[in-house]
Amino acid sequence: MVNLNKIKQARENISKIINETPLMTSESISSEVGNQIFFKCEHLQKTGSFKIRGASNKIINEASKGARSIVAASSGNHGQAVSYIARKLGLTPTIVVPANVAACKQKGIRAYHGNIEFCGESSEERLGRAKQISKEENAPYVPPYDDPLIMAGQGTIGLEILEQLDSVDEVYVPIGGGGLISGVATAIKEIKPHVRIIGVEPKLANDTYLSILKGERVNIGGSTTIADGLRTATPGELTFPIIQKYVDEIVLVDEEEIKTAFTIVLTRMKQVIETSAAVAVAAAMTREAEGKKIVALCSGGNVDTSVVSSILG
Ligand SMILES: *Cc1c(COP(=O)(O)O)cnc(C)c1O
Repeated sequence: MVNLNKIKQARENISKIINETPLMTSESISSEVGNQIFFKCEHLQKTGSFKIRGASNKIINEASKGARSIVAASSGNHGQAVSYIARKLGLTPTIVVPANVAACKQKGIRAYHGNIEFCGESSEERLGRAKQISKEENAPYVPPYDDPLIMAGQGTIGLEILEQLDSVDEVYVPIGGGGLISGVATAIKEIKPHVRIIGVEPKLANDTYLSILKGERVNIGGSTTIADGLRTATPGELTFPIIQKYVDEIVLVDEEEIKTAFTIVLTRMKQVIETSAAVAVAAAMTREAEGKKIVALCSGGNVDTSVVSSILG
């Protein structure tokens, strides 16, 4: 299971590969909302999202055990991250994507020289095909979140936040499958238990929120939220118990709030983040004004130009 030591180990493993991302602030936004807001800039991370942290930690480990190729199933940021780090380490990446994958996502994977394999339209079909390739080609499968090495890699963000803002009160983290928040929460709670960790989901993809209420993993099926990185149907088997243990609260945001947060970050801070990152900003901005120091984890910046123009109208 993931713990502080494994996160520190992950940091050593990946420090030469990843960027230590800046923590930005905006005086105008802070004074408007009555809390001091900081933005942890993973949209400036290599490959455009934090996913490179977990993927690197996992693939370095597989390479050290002799792997020559690896396989993942993802049309988004995980696929790009896996392609990038695999090639960098001299391994062959195969990424299984849906048959109807958007052209821009294919382009993202190809840009990092990942081999693309098309399969079906559902995530079950893709996962099945990835596992099959894994067996046939003796290529380890790299999951997007439900893996201790992946969680430990994502947790390195928590160490950076504590170093960059020693007096932080609260951290807002978007939740998809829960790999990001389980790593970040473990790092922060095991060093500074009083720092509050707040998970954020779109109202239209509230699987973790419902699971916490029920005390067990709930599956909500598909979702149409604009935050495409958070459309997971259910929290992970390994991530969920960590979320139950360490996450203080889960906040839901609606689609309009996500778009507003995206636009504010773009126009005031001149930063392009993706909609899945904007959910954390949206929740942080609507928090009660109490002069707290709060961090919104801007998890990525890979947004289609068509989405940008539809939000800006
Ligand atoms: C994957 C992803 C998330 C969600 O991370 P999980 O580990 O699945 O919870 C959030 N934002 C971005 C940009 C992502 O790529």
